[in-house]
This record gives sequence, structure tokens and C-alpha cells, in this order.
Amino acid sequence: MRARLEAINQRIAAACGRAGRQVSEITLVAVSKTVPAERIREAIEAGVRTLGENRVQEATAKIPELKPLADEYNVQWHLIGHLQSNKARRAVELFDAVHSVDSFKLAERLDSIAGELGKRLPVFIEVNLGGEQSKAGVAPDDVFLLCEQIGKFANLELKGLMTVPPFFDDPEDARPFFQRLRRMRDDARQTGLVGEQFKDLSMGMSNDFEVAIEEGATFVRVGTALFGARA
Ligand SMILES: *Cc1c(COP(=O)(O)O)cnc(C)c1O
Repeated sequence: MRARLEAINQRIAAACGRAGRQVSEITLVAVSKTVPAERIREAIEAGVRTLGENRVQEATAKIPELKPLADEYNVQWHLIGHLQSNKARRAVELFDAVHSVDSFKLAERLDSIAGELGKRLPVFIEVNLGGEQSKAGVAPDDVFLLCEQIGKFANLELKGLMTVPPFFDDPEDARPFFQRLRRMRDDARQTGLVGEQFKDLSMGMSNDFEVAIEEGATFVRVGTALFGARA
């Protein structure tokens, strides 16, 4: 675990070097979906500080079990998978950030629950850049409207955009998608639709996180490269 984490951190540093960026700009989200609590414990002990889960139900079992250790190391849990409105309450209780907001209705629900629980929840809008039916996320044309709407919610902190591009064997093929997400972020900032805190790009996975960093990622979501292939 330590060796794998070290190797990923070195790859992050090398990509930052190529792009003239600082490693402190990048947060590694270790994606622990399907990974048992015991191995997540090892990852935390090896130095992982942000974990990503894609299903509320699975997280409901694992996050409380790891709470003492997570508190000791100041670990954050991020929800990266599609969220149904009926699981929004549990999600706000469990998670420190949600990367996968993809509708006004969901955002409204998260805002209202966060308000009830006295929390301010960091969120990203998930954008479906490839137009794939099988993937979650809002259509590119709807992103700016949703930015404007979410900006009005007092209990949500809109941090930026997230995407899962189509899978390519060659990570270079994902580069145009990462560039497009960055342009959307820059355009939203320029039009003044969003606040100062809207600066993050959650993009890049095991196969393509280096290219994503070269194109401006601030959160990379890495599962397989850290925990090994999922069963
Ligand atoms: C599983 C998952 C990842 C991590 O994928 P790997 O290829 O294992 O690194 C990243 N983001 C999302 C949304 C995922 O569901």
C-alpha cells in the first residue's frame, strides 16, 4: 500500500512538473468502492487523507466503522457516484463533499438537508461530456444554468466541475475532454455566474490522471492504481 501510494504521488509530482504546477494544488481522492474497511485502514495509515465512495449504501456500512481512525487522521469522505434524491439525507450525514450533483432537484434537496443539519456542503456539478447514455451528469448546455441556480443555495458551496470521460485505452484521447471541462470552468468564472470558490476540477482516474493534471485537475479520483483491480 505504501509503495503504491508513493508511486502515485511520484506520478502526480511528475505531471505537476510538466505542467508547471505545485503538488499542493492536487488532492488525491483514493477511490475505495468495493474495498473492505480493513484495506482502507491500511491506506489511511499509509497516508491517504481523502477517500471516495460511489454508493451511499456501501458507505453507510464502512464510514462509521472507520470513524475513530478517520477522525484521528482528519480523513475526508467524498461521494463520487450518482446520488438519488431519496438517499440525499444519508449522503449529507456521511460525506464531506459531493462530486456528482447533476440536477436542480438534487441540489435543492441537498441544500435543504444541509441547512437542517447545520452543515455547509462542498459540491461539484458532474458534466456528461461524452453524451454517453450510461453515464450520469448534466449535458454541457445545462451547466451554466445549474451553476447559477446552485450559487443561490446558502448551504451548498459550489466548488467546481467534475467529469468521467469515455474510457480510452490511450489516455491522450481523454485530453480534449479535460480541456473542455477546464474551459467551461474558466467561462463560468469569467461571466461572473459563480463565486471565487468555484475553481476546482475533479477529473482523472487511474488510467488518465496524469493527463488530467496537465490539463488543470485539482482533484484526481484514483481507485485501481492504489487498491488493485476490483473484484
Ligand atoms: C471507480 C471510480 C473512479 C476510480 O476509477 P479507477 O479507474 O479505479 O481509478 C473514479 N471516479 C468515479 C466516479 C468512479 O466511479
